[in-house]
Order: sequence, then structure tokens, then C-alpha cells
Amino acid sequence: MQTNFSLAQLADPNIEEAESILRKCVHCGFCTATCPTYVLLGDELDSPRGRIYLIKGMLEEGVAATAEVTKHLDRCLSCLSCMTTCPSGVNYMHLVDHARNHVEHSYKRPLFERLLRNLLSYLIPRPFWFRGALNIASLTKPLVKNFVSGRVKALIDLAPKDLPAASVVDQPQTFKAVGERKGRVALLSGCAQTVLAPSINEAAIRLLTKHGIEVVIAKGVGCCGSLVHHMGKEAMAEQQMKAAIRGWMTEIEGEGLDAIITNASGCGTTIKDYGFMLRNDPDWAERAAKISGLAKDITEYLAELEPVALVDKEKGDEAAKIVAYHAPCSIQHGQKITRQPKELLTGAGFVVRDVPEGHLCCGSAGTYNIMQPELAEKLRDRKVKNIETLTPDIIATGNIGCQCQISSGTDIPVVHNVELLDWATGGPKPEVLE
Ligand code: SF4
Ligand code: SF4
Repeated sequence: MQTNFSLAQLADPNIEEAESILRKCVHCGFCTATCPTYVLLGDELDSPRGRIYLIKGMLEEGVAATAEVTKHLDRCLSCLSCMTTCPSGVNYMHLVDHARNHVEHSYKRPLFERLLRNLLSYLIPRPFWFRGALNIASLTKPLVKNFVSGRVKALIDLAPKDLPAASVVDQPQTFKAVGERKGRVALLSGCAQTVLAPSINEAAIRLLTKHGIEVVIAKGVGCCGSLVHHMGKEAMAEQQMKAAIRGWMTEIEGEGLDAIITNASGCGTTIKDYGFMLRNDPDWAERAAKISGLAKDITEYLAELEPVALVDKEKGDEAAKIVAYHAPCSIQHGQKITRQPKELLTGAGFVVRDVPEGHLCCGSAGTYNIMQPELAEKLRDRKVKNIETLTPDIIATGNIGCQCQISSGTDIPVVHNVELLDWATGGPKPEVLE
């Protein structure tokens, strides 16, 4: 694609980067077929190619984002399906990240939207406040649910009926390897996941330690910055990223780390991109690249280890469980991990089935299901319909956002991969399967 940036514009390293991405696009349109919003809406401006043109125009002209451009960029899920499809290697993720930042700085959103975005970006990365907000939402839900709609309804619907108690494993500490120590890793305990499903980190720690891996929850590491980064709030994201880098660097310089493990794939995709995001910051670039180099999804890491013995999880005449594996976009498109989760589940005795139209997002996408509830609901219902054709006993996935989104549309239990793997190797049966 031909571009028309001035030399002065190209002096900005972010514009220079955007230009090199834009130049790779040959407008072939292959990406449109696999873009969930284009599939739903059929509007070129809600396709990757259409958005690329909108971003190009906005950046070349050096103008503030308009309401129209913002609408189409906001509808993008950042699912990165377009990157998997694109034959020209267009890095849509870096382009849309830059565009979202531009929108955040140049476009004044309507008051309610600004308040809601600020509220979400404050609450969700802070487990204490997020838990409090969910408890209030859960208490008021029966009273207000018939009087609210749209984004407020989507927000209130987020609150589960019974919130699990906070887990002690999410505090900074070290978990010793069982038997001979074969490795040492840091686990990102995360933010929203620790509130919504603390059992995931508990299972991950049991699973890693029984594989002979020492696990550290590093001091000072909170949210990885992913949530606010996708809202275009770069300054806030950088603060959270730098706190995480500081915490993990202390461990690296202390007893050392073989890997930094994530079990929420959205976080993993962001941490793997820290090196890029902080590349122009001389004080942080090297450390950020080091952290990105060590980041691994838990399934990626487990697949490299010697498997531990299975325990007969059925202990009776129940047939092997049929598992529909839902690949989160951040794992299949963001991190290009497609094989390991399914191989691990198969190796653990489950019968694993691929979901038809598996490349399409379930509609979770960070805060997307709150900010774009109608589109998110359509995508969820389509995903659930596809899953139900497999008649599975269990839906397995690797991202808390997908777990909440899919489980809100089906009675089939949705379980994190690590909880199934832990169960198969002697851990407790996941509560939703009881
Ligand atoms: S597939 Fe790639 S090159 Fe083709 S239009 Fe989409 S982004 Fe551009
Ligand atoms: S990231 Fe997803 S929603 Fe956004 S343009 Fe690409 S395929 Fe479409």
C-alpha cells in the first residue's frame, strides 16, 4: 500500500512503525473472511482492510479521531484472526494498538462512555476493588436487572451469584518443587482471574510443582497492563508493565527464572509484546525484551516437560470425558499456540474435539463484552451453537475471559485446561464438574 507521510511525521518512531506496517498491506482482502465483525456486519469498514484504511487516513492527515473512525475501531475485538489469515505479514496488532492510543488522546468520548471506561480501567486490574464492585453488583442484580439495558446490564451480568473466596496462593511467595527441582518459574497470578476463578492458579501451582518446578509469585507484580493497553490507555499500561518487569527482574537477578508463566492467554500475548512496547524507552527496553523472551503460556511450558503419571480420574465405569477445546484468540492468533493444549489434554485421557469455526472470537475480548454487548452476545451465541454440535461433556479453554463469556451462554461446564490436567494427575475434581 502506498503511503503519504511527511518526513516530519516519520521522525516519530510510532508513525515510522505504522508506515512500515501499512506498506505491507496489498489490499487483497483475504482477512475480511475471517474477521468476526465483518462476518456479522458485512460492512467493509468493520473489516481489517477497512480499518487499516481508516487508520491510514487518520494518521497521514495527522488529525484527531472522528466519531466514525472511533466507532469502527471500537468494534474491533483485537482478536488478531486477521493476522493469522494475512499472507503479507501485516502486523495489525501493532497498528491498531497505536491507533487506539491516538483515539484515546484525540477523541472526546461521550460522558457516560468516558466514565464507564475509566471505571473499568480502575476496577478490573485491582482485585480488592473489583471484588467489592462484583459483590455490590451481585447484591443489586435482582433489584435492578429489569430496569437496565445495554452496557449497564452487561456490567451487572458480569457478577457471578457466588464469588469464590480469595486464595492465599495469589500472595507473593514461593512454592517448592515436589521431588527433585527441575526448574524455577514465576507465575503471573493476574488480576480479574484471581477474583473470578482463584482455583485456576491453585491448579497451575499444583501442576507445575508436581512436575518438579519451583513456582514463585513475585512481589510487586499485579496486572500485566493488558486490559488498559487494549483501551488505548498507554500511560496506565506502562505503569503496570514496569511494576511487573521490576518484580520479575528481582527474581531473575536473585535465584533466577527459567520462564515467566501465564495461564490467562490474553496476558501472555501482552507480556510477549513488552519488548516491542517499550522498545523506545532506553531505561526499560532491555529489561522488557528480557521479560518477553521468558514469557510462556503454561501449556507451552508443560509440553516441554516430562509428563507426570496419570491418576485414574474416573475410578469407575464412566466413559472418558469428551472435551470441546475452545482456543482463545490470544492463544491461537496472538501467540500461535495451537497444538500444545490439545496434546496435553489428549495425553491426560480426555477425548478432545475441535470447535467448528474455531478461528472466530467468542466475544469476550477484555472489556468488549461490556462495551459492545450486542456484538459480543451474537458472537457468544454463535460460539455456543458451534460447541454444542460436538455434544461435549466439558468445554476446555485457557483464558478466564472466554470462560466467563462462554459459560454465560451454556449449561455445559467450562473449565480451564490446567484444572483438567491437574485433576487427571491427582488434583481435585474441578468444582463445576461436581
Ligand atoms: S490480508 Fe493482509 S494484505 Fe490482504 S488486505 Fe488484509 S491485511 Fe492487507
Ligand atoms: S482483530 Fe479481529 S475484529 Fe479486529 S480487524 Fe482483525 S479480525 Fe477483525
